[in-house]
Amino acid sequence: MQTNSPIAGCDQSSLAIRGGKPVRETWLPYGHQVIEDDDIAAVTAALTSDFLTQGPRIQEFENAVADHVGVKYAVAIANGTAALHAAYEAAGISTGDEIITSPITFAATSNASLYLGAKPLYADVAPDTGLISAASVEKLLKENRAKGNKKIKAVVAVDYAGQPADYDTLQTLADQYEVSLIIDAAHSLGARYKERAGGFAGIMSTMSFHPVKTITTGEGGIILTNDEKLYDRLLAFRSHGIEKRKERLQKHDGPWYHEMQTLGFNYRMCDIQAALGTSQMFKLPGFIERRLQIAAAYTAALKDSNSYRTITISGASQSAYHLFPILINGENAREKRRFVFEALQKENIGIQVHYIPTYQMPYYKEQVVDRDWSALCPGAEDFYSREISLPIFPSMTMSDIEDVLTALKKIEANL
Ligand SMILES: *Cc1c(COP(=O)(O)O)cnc(C)c1O
Repeated sequence: MQTNSPIAGCDQSSLAIRGGKPVRETWLPYGHQVIEDDDIAAVTAALTSDFLTQGPRIQEFENAVADHVGVKYAVAIANGTAALHAAYEAAGISTGDEIITSPITFAATSNASLYLGAKPLYADVAPDTGLISAASVEKLLKENRAKGNKKIKAVVAVDYAGQPADYDTLQTLADQYEVSLIIDAAHSLGARYKERAGGFAGIMSTMSFHPVKTITTGEGGIILTNDEKLYDRLLAFRSHGIEKRKERLQKHDGPWYHEMQTLGFNYRMCDIQAALGTSQMFKLPGFIERRLQIAAAYTAALKDSNSYRTITISGASQSAYHLFPILINGENAREKRRFVFEALQKENIGIQVHYIPTYQMPYYKEQVVDRDWSALCPGAEDFYSREISLPIFPSMTMSDIEDVLTALKKIEANL
């Protein structure tokens, strides 16, 4: 891609943060949903149908996602956090248990274990990808086995930024240490892993359909599995633990009869949301194609930069590019990252940092963690100190991309 905006030696070269003219007059968000007329028509049809919640559109949406990812069962749910809560419960995680997960993720990945009275342990991430390090997972599993600790029930990997984690190595470890592998695939709908779709490995994966994610239902989430027993448990958890299927009841008082067999929640998605989801699923291939084009343009333009680098994408994977993270090179990354972030904002470029390590959150420090995870996770600390997520969403134009690159160059010249 050509970026022919004049940078040096003209008015534009003065940074907006120092009083110069910003690269853009209007704010460019870092993510944005794409809602078109057919999406609106699908929602309108649902609104005027007989079912507003748990009607036929739920199953239709579940089938669309399950077919795309290539799994047998899908359970649509209120949001991605509820999906994690349901998956952990179905995996049998309960009071006193532990999970191993990544600190470089949204807080919900860890929070859902706390809802069940369990606790997260943190494996480090690879500093060039932000993905959970299998070697670090193995170290924790080995240490705990040596101590005779049987509390660890699951490894929860996060497909950070849309790139599938190292599913095969993690599965081997999960088998060897007899724990479950669960994937937080909130970023990876539409990704590829080796010869198959990304976004699923282990016993279950979870997704989110929040508006910044690859497709949206407003709020929404899903759990994917190939295991019928887990599927049944997820269905019950989503709706108060109530069982209505006659063949599964303990007794049968009459046609009205149902049983609450476990303690569940009201975590249902409604038909209005599912209608939007199914309509969005038709667009997924186009959304991903566009995200790949934007990522390719950024990657090519930043290839020779001294100040910024892109994260490594494994040859085995194709990222869904939910995010486009860059890392600030060199010494004093923390100060430089702050300057670049603030300067980009002043240029009207929307950016974010993904993520502050979960164990650094005050609640975790005060109520949850009992060891110095910052010292144990140097990769996560390094990644967090350098990371900035650039704008990426399907409706971004070529000129939007050029604005981001022009702003980055302008700032680089002043670093
Ligand atoms: C968005 C997200 C979630 C939570 O999803 P919600 O739908 O917002 O509840 C969980 N994990 C990761 C990695 C996410 O990005």
